[in-house]
Amino acid sequence: MAMIIDGKKISQQIKEELKEKVTAQKAEGKEGALAVIQVGADPASSVYVRNKKNACAFVGIESLAYELPEETPEEELLSLIAELNSNEKVKGILVQLPLPGHINEDKVIQAISPSKDVDGFHPQSVGAMVIGEKGFLPCTPAGIIQLLKRSGIEIAGKNCVVVGRSNIVGKPMALLMLREHATVTITHSRTQNLAGICRQADILIVAMGKPRFIGAEYVKEGAVVIDVGIHRNAENKLCGDVKFEEVEPIASAITPVPGGVGPMTIAMLMDNCVQSIEEG
Ligand code: NDP
Repeated sequence: MAMIIDGKKISQQIKEELKEKVTAQKAEGKEGALAVIQVGADPASSVYVRNKKNACAFVGIESLAYELPEETPEEELLSLIAELNSNEKVKGILVQLPLPGHINEDKVIQAISPSKDVDGFHPQSVGAMVIGEKGFLPCTPAGIIQLLKRSGIEIAGKNCVVVGRSNIVGKPMALLMLREHATVTITHSRTQNLAGICRQADILIVAMGKPRFIGAEYVKEGAVVIDVGIHRNAENKLCGDVKFEEVEPIASAITPVPGGVGPMTIAMLMDNCVQSIEEG
């Protein structure tokens, strides 16, 4: 029987801690707002944006919502970002991804001032992370490090296999595990013998975006399994990249979907906002 890593509980603890920090910051006259920009009305994005606003309200950070129509030209979005970059009150800028096809996401990410890049996607933030300098860390991988640490799972010296190499999850995840002194293997769609490599893992982190792909044959007895995937199945229920009921009896610890990695992403976004307010 595996320990079920409770992301809901851990993220709540983090938000409570941040709430106290925000109160202390306000007492010192340090305040700021998070600007949340959504282009179009994708229902999944609307849910994420709503959750981010609610988290801001909980920790005591003002959120400014910008809901732009789907057909907003790229230049208009870029000029809004430029305006927010120079707005002293705004300490964090978040553009909800994905953006409509006519807008270049990379250009938008690079337009955000690195000092307000609370998503941690700007090349300067990524570069700082790679060389171990201070900067905003991408929220989902940073949240997974917190899940492991706060669950008492040792990382240093462990074999970690990351499935997926996206810029927002897989790659930064591997770098953060390396920073925590794990021995890291990154796998992807061209990897040969994926199951054999995954079975080497003491800590297996799955971010492949393939519903219920990872079964028992991918998991070593006693491994820690972190499932980043989020999908809706035919019955409209949430599931991950891992076959939970098949893997849970083999693993020593596992994250559920929902209630595992998902809530941590928003908690770490709040953490980045508090860091940005602290730095002025
Ligand atoms: P991407 O689609 O950008 O990346 C998926 C990665 O998985 C790619 O690197 C791909 O390899 C690899 N992959 C795909 N198929 C296979 C395969 N058969 N074998 C090995 N590797 C494979 O997804 P994201 O990284 O953005 O997201 C991954 C999942 O995490 C999604 O379900 C997403 O919804 C979820 N997610 C959850 C978050 C949360 O807060 N919980 C936050 C962000 C994402 P290649 O590069 O070769 O194509």
